Amino acid sequence: MTNDVEIKPVVRDFFSRSEEEQNDFLQQTWCNQCMEMDLGMKNPQEFEAGERIWIEGDCVKCGSKVVTELVFEDDE
Ligand SMILES: [Zn+2]
Repeated sequence: MTNDVEIKPVVRDFFSRSEEEQNDFLQQTWCNQCMEMDLGMKNPQEFEAGERIWIEGDCVKCGSKVVTELVFEDDE
């Protein structure tokens, strides 16, 4: 046992999402290199760590890594 609270990201199956959802996530991006939104991403990979879920891919325009964090509504 350690006190290490770091959570290892788990790879999820992005392609098990509906085609509609996949298209949304692939289109709704922000690229830090291009400083432009919605350029799109390719080679998407979905990760999960704790309560966070995000999708990583490559910017369609410049090939830089783009990350889209999924935000869930909090019903508290
Ligand atoms: Zn870019």
